[in-house]
Amino acid sequence: MGKLLKVLYVEDSAADAELVGLELRRGGFAPDGLRVETRDQMVSALRRSAWDLILCDYSLPQFSAEEALNTLHNSGLDLPFIITSGAVEAEDVVNLLKQGAHDFMSKESYARLIPAIERELRDAEVRRLRRQAEDKVRILSRAVEQSPVAVVISDAQGVIEYVNPRFEQATGYTAEEAIGQELGFTLLDEDSAQAMRELLASVQNGREWRGEFCHKHRDGQLFWEFVHASPLNNDQGQPTHFVIVKEDITVRRSYEEQLLRQAHYDHLTGLANRALMVDRLTVAVASAQRHQHLAALLFIDLDHFKNVNDSLGHSIGDALLTKAAGRLSACIRGGDTLARMGGDEFVIVLPEVGSALEVQQIAEKIIDAFARSFTLIGREYFVTASVGIALYPQDGENPHLILRNADLAMYKAKDLGRNQFHFFTEDINTQLMQRLELETRLRHAVKRRELELHYQPIFNLQTQKIVGIEALVRWRQPDGSLWAPNRFIPQAEDMSIVAEIDNWVLSQACTEAAPLLKAGGDASPMRLALNVSATQLQVPGFDRQVTEQLAMSGLVPAQLELEVTERVLVDDDEQTQRNMNALCELGVRLSIDDFGTGYSSLGYLQKYPFKTLKIDRSFVSQIIENPHTGKLVETIVVMARGLDLEVVAEGVETEEQRQRVAELGCDQAQGYLLGYPVPIAELYHRITPKAQ
Ligand code: C2E
Ligand code: MG
Ligand code: MG
Repeated sequence: MGKLLKVLYVEDSAADAELVGLELRRGGFAPDGLRVETRDQMVSALRRSAWDLILCDYSLPQFSAEEALNTLHNSGLDLPFIITSGAVEAEDVVNLLKQGAHDFMSKESYARLIPAIERELRDAEVRRLRRQAEDKVRILSRAVEQSPVAVVISDAQGVIEYVNPRFEQATGYTAEEAIGQELGFTLLDEDSAQAMRELLASVQNGREWRGEFCHKHRDGQLFWEFVHASPLNNDQGQPTHFVIVKEDITVRRSYEEQLLRQAHYDHLTGLANRALMVDRLTVAVASAQRHQHLAALLFIDLDHFKNVNDSLGHSIGDALLTKAAGRLSACIRGGDTLARMGGDEFVIVLPEVGSALEVQQIAEKIIDAFARSFTLIGREYFVTASVGIALYPQDGENPHLILRNADLAMYKAKDLGRNQFHFFTEDINTQLMQRLELETRLRHAVKRRELELHYQPIFNLQTQKIVGIEALVRWRQPDGSLWAPNRFIPQAEDMSIVAEIDNWVLSQACTEAAPLLKAGGDASPMRLALNVSATQLQVPGFDRQVTEQLAMSGLVPAQLELEVTERVLVDDDEQTQRNMNALCELGVRLSIDDFGTGYSSLGYLQKYPFKTLKIDRSFVSQIIENPHTGKLVETIVVMARGLDLEVVAEGVETEEQRQRVAELGCDQAQGYLLGYPVPIAELYHRITPKAQ
């Protein structure tokens, strides 16, 4: 069986076609032929089935080789087209060959027919394969051209040979501009250039490479790309080109950067946050250690910022913080770090300083920067700053210590009156250590029963009789000595354990003093005076605690007097007001203590239901020498009368003072002249008739 050959004869003579068929069979083919005579027949034959070969008579009654050739071309098919004919002019044949016919055969001699067909079949196959390959390349290159990701092809040295339109869009450079440039000519910085060198080394060694690059668009904008580079090898396996596919990841990167920013930057001011500051400080300390130079940390706290926040609201407070941040940034150099620690606290890290003097100059600059007012909602506000400074290495060997010590120095600056800077010193540290030790012991003082109460009598200046006793707390020290309240009550107030102390005093005093108060025997019952801290009055339900203690000790409310200082009135707290009113309703007496030392306003006195006013010791001690003081005391007494208050003169130490305060109209007196504060037992002997 010969090779199947599908032959289309364009031939008016069936005999001629038959003859060729015979010839083909003799040449080893198994021809499967169809004979057509007109254009229409040829068109439909071409359409209906696939052909290997067209054998076309030069001239037909209704058709011609030339027309047949055109018909073939119009069909888009590429088939071997061989003309067979009797005698024709050579010129005409050449013409047809020029038009695309493949060969010419004389009907007189088919000697060349078989080799010609074999050659044409081969050629057609080659053409078909080439066409197929071209189609593939065309599709591939179209895919690359229209790819949504940027594609670059370079030679083996990394010189760009091709870029696709997406690349042009992404970089702003046209293909003409890009071709001939080195790969990575749009890279942003040296880091990226280094990564590009790695990429080249990798692909030159036949390995793929993946990574991210930051590029600069022609217009200056930055963008990020994820890059996948791979070598293109020749048949010998040598890389001749590199294909680089780049995907824009700017959106993802900016999201990541945003997250990074959130983790490292303060959202209000855009400054570094605590975490980033600690990083920078750690680096600064390490570098200062390596290169043997100084580093410094400035801890900055705005003075009375809380007032602004509370009175003007948080959004104005935020605006102030932002402006403050701006002024602080103007005080530092490049390389320094300004961070917001939270609230109104800022930190500046100076990684390299020449001397402490240099740091001082910066601190002065900061204080100056806050000398100008801030304009907030059209008004001027003055907000100053307190600055604490710690240096590396002398003030702390690690970031934690430096930060802590600068913070302590800042507190020192506040203590000294704010609006100033202070360097850290060992003294500050010692004070702090002592304070910490005191606080620890104080925390346990109540539970360990280290507190004691002394009682000081209060006398009626007219009758000379004791009308009351004031309980005063003391703290027994391990060495047996007693500490006066001014050595620990202020700390207890700061640490908010004063409530615990005051509660103990309330219950202890009621318990201890009840027998004495009941034994007094006089018609007007003697009263027990207690000092109450401002913070205690802010505790909801304080009045219920008082009621309980009274009930337990069997005292009537009128026998209890609670002394508060003017600070309570100035604070003007709602809960305080409620507690004071509730206590007054109960029938407990309220007393204003240390009058004249604070804000001493009549308005305040009217607001609360006081029974007693105690003139501070500082007035009484000067009442003889200083005539102004006498006048002042007289005014206070007159005023108190108007408000229906009893007046107690505190700290009467001499007979002269006692007489003077009596003359000026004070009702009662208290002082060393009349009686020291003593334990309840001693007072008991003195007061009760039996003991006399
Ligand atoms: P205060 O309530 O004004 O108490 C009177 C202070 O004056 C007492 O000091 C007392 O010992 C002292 N004193 C009395 N007479 C004289 C005198 O003639 N000359 C001089 N130089 N001083 C005299 P103390 O006991 O040291 O108490 C100081 C302050 O501590 C009290 O002032 C009071 O504000 C506070 N305090 C005392 N006990 C307590 C307490 O249990 N709770 C609270 N929260 N504060 C207390
Ligand atoms: Mg008092
Ligand atoms: Mg007092």
